[in-house]
Amino acid sequence: MESPTSAQFSQIISNLLKPLCFASKDNFAHLAAIKDVEALIQNLCGQALALSIPEKGIRGVKDIKDMFEGFDMLALDKKKEKIKKALEIIQEVKNHVLESWKDFVSVSPSPPFSDSQTFYAINEIKTRLSKLSTSLTAVKGIGPKLAQMFAKKGLNTVEDILYFMPIRYEDRRQMKKIVRLIAGAKEVASGEIMALGEVFYSRRKVFEITIGDGSGFLRLKWFNYRLPAMKKKYKIGQRLVVYGEINIFGGHKDIIHPDVEIFEKGDELDSISFNAIVPVYSQVANMHQKTVRRIIQNIVDEFVSHAVGSVPLSILKRYGLMELTNAVSEIHKPISELPTPNSELSKDWLPRKSVVFDDLFSLELGLALKKQGMGKETGIAFNTDSARLGRVENFRRMLPFRLTAAQEKVISEIKGDMSEPHPMNRLLQGDVGSGKTVVAFISCLIAIENGYQAAIMAPTEILAEQHYLNIYKYAEKLGIKTVLLTSSLAKTERNTALAGIKSNDISLAIGTHALIQEDVEFSKLGLIIIDEQHRFGVIQRAMLKNKGAMGNGQGAGKNLTPDVLVMTATPIPRTLSMTVFGDMDISIIDELPPGRRPIKTKVFRERERAQVYKTIRMELEKGRQAYVVYPLIEESEELDLKDATRMAEHLKKDVFPEFKTGLLHGRMKADEKEAVMKAFKDRETDILVSTTVIEVGIDVSNATCMVVEHAERFGLSQLHQLRGRVGRGEHDSHCILLAANIGSIDTYKRLKVMEETNDGFRIAEEDLKIRGPGDFLGTRQSGLPDFRIADIMTDAAMLKKARDEAFNLIRNDPALEREEHSALKEIVKARWKGRLELATVG
Ligand code: ADP
Ligand code: MG
Repeated sequence: MESPTSAQFSQIISNLLKPLCFASKDNFAHLAAIKDVEALIQNLCGQALALSIPEKGIRGVKDIKDMFEGFDMLALDKKKEKIKKALEIIQEVKNHVLESWKDFVSVSPSPPFSDSQTFYAINEIKTRLSKLSTSLTAVKGIGPKLAQMFAKKGLNTVEDILYFMPIRYEDRRQMKKIVRLIAGAKEVASGEIMALGEVFYSRRKVFEITIGDGSGFLRLKWFNYRLPAMKKKYKIGQRLVVYGEINIFGGHKDIIHPDVEIFEKGDELDSISFNAIVPVYSQVANMHQKTVRRIIQNIVDEFVSHAVGSVPLSILKRYGLMELTNAVSEIHKPISELPTPNSELSKDWLPRKSVVFDDLFSLELGLALKKQGMGKETGIAFNTDSARLGRVENFRRMLPFRLTAAQEKVISEIKGDMSEPHPMNRLLQGDVGSGKTVVAFISCLIAIENGYQAAIMAPTEILAEQHYLNIYKYAEKLGIKTVLLTSSLAKTERNTALAGIKSNDISLAIGTHALIQEDVEFSKLGLIIIDEQHRFGVIQRAMLKNKGAMGNGQGAGKNLTPDVLVMTATPIPRTLSMTVFGDMDISIIDELPPGRRPIKTKVFRERERAQVYKTIRMELEKGRQAYVVYPLIEESEELDLKDATRMAEHLKKDVFPEFKTGLLHGRMKADEKEAVMKAFKDRETDILVSTTVIEVGIDVSNATCMVVEHAERFGLSQLHQLRGRVGRGEHDSHCILLAANIGSIDTYKRLKVMEETNDGFRIAEEDLKIRGPGDFLGTRQSGLPDFRIADIMTDAAMLKKARDEAFNLIRNDPALEREEHSALKEIVKARWKGRLELATVG
């Protein structure tokens, strides 16, 4: 409990802060309108001084009281100064006083007044948020046609525009005279069109415009152009503002393919595009840059004061960041010096950093809330005493190997979660072959030993089948009824399976997304394991969870949420695990079982194909088997199929007639696939040609050779997965990356990474760098939240800070229930709308 004095003091400080914060808000926009500040402050200070407060507090309050004498008569500038100073003093007093009180009375861990949001009344926030969501069609000066152009870029609301960042800036405050332009530099220049037309340089046709500004001439050159369009666009006498790298050619300055803005003779050279540091935006439909800029500036002028930041003042201060309103405004209308004028928007520029941090912070707040909320749901407290888990011990004894230390560590983390009365929500990462299946099965056994059911969901039928085959033999010996539920199951079999699942006769269900079909009803589902998560996405995760332990089952009346364990073989770089999987706990198996033979990886070019065949033959002659994988590109599945089919024929007939070749592709029926797989597993075929359906999970330890055709079309992580298909037995293995089109050095270098390392995390980082998060995770369905401007690769350090701060805040106020966070809660809700569901934020 707070002492009466500290509570009274807190109240007074809070009352003092209200007018001051209001006055300072939006860069003092409201200051002029506020009356009688002096009397109010004097009165409040008087009240505070009447309390018995620590010395430092008294001094601070007295200072403020003195400062505000005669305040109402002051000029605006002076008022601003005083208010700023007063806010600083109050901050200090607050911290100090509450700190010293803590020693002898217990005060609430965080003061009831703290940050600027406190003083946004909740209604004001709602008004602002609704202003921000104003549709562009409703903005003055934007008709349906313009709005549609913006919509094509994903810009639909005022808020979208505020967050639409310039790609670069041009310093047009003092346009450089042409004579002063420096060769080799990127420069902005301006001049009038003196001449234009097609010219010939030796045999090359060039469209050329010469502009002049009185100091000299600058030639603008285009090599790719359509003459009629150019002639229509450019006219003698127009004024151009141009941007690009200055060259010297034949003694003249020129720019090749410049960025150009055209101003007609009568155009007003307004302060938006001239005499300023001017933002340049990426192309919006075929709108003129100056039009885009004008529209955006109008919107910024009208709406920027409604922007609401998510970051509390204390945190802004800690990192020296700007308030959101100011930062957004500055980004569109820079007033301070840019770190690098006439170049790209710098990642380190304070206004940008401030906006990015704000974005990341609210995202992480959402994740923290989500995690917190799930942690609070009622779950099943499994008994995890070894004594209770007879069949776990039996299973361990049945295994022909000992678990690795990493597996043991992860199992104990899972046990820890399972024993809690809250649902587990854990991501298990482990490189291919690190032994996740064993860990998964042991987790299932824990649930089953407690009388619950477990479900394992895999992304493909083949994978589900393989899990089933791996697990079945053990499960049977342990007396556990297991079923494989896929969509290719016959009706009667399916019905039998469903009945068994419903009656709890079947303890373990393994399947594809068929497991989440509506008619699947579990009796007592306690644990869900999802393999290869990123193929599912968040929605399916939620759907399966809803199948959780049933209220109508034995645990009548209780709606218990099952535990969830997600497994992935794609090592997930930290930046992504802090975002996409930011609401989960994470376990990593960072060690492979002992005795694995290294895999020799080598990149080959098309002309070295003969050598590739030699390697394959060598392996086959030793009695080993080989995979040959073809990429599958969705748009031309037909074509790819032909490739794989043709290749299979070719290998069979022309190259390896003495060996047997099988073909596996995505168009085959499940039983056909299985037959082909089985034949390969049973060594009836020596070479398996396939499209990427074998990417994950297939386990044939005699296969020692993996050949990837068109390796350049795969992501590195995918190649790493493929490579993981070999090296599973006691023999040395080969991974051959055959690159048909090494268009660029970069492609080659990228593939070379595979030769250098076997470390899945390192490969994932490289891959993420090259492809970006969307591609890395397989785009939309990945559940990757889209950031407005943050780039989680380059802003990784900020992401970490934002995450720490957000999680810290939520630790202290788990549901954002404190009064000073009520506004924040609205903001987070608004920002998260349509991104990820925030189940528990009321
Ligand atoms: P993942 O699913 O992580 O790719 P698996 O669980 O399929 O890996 O395991 C790969 C292979 O390694 C399997 O044949 C499995 O039986 C074996 N294995 C798992 N754990 C160990 C261990 N601790 N020691 C030796 N072999 C293991
Ligand atoms: Mg596996």
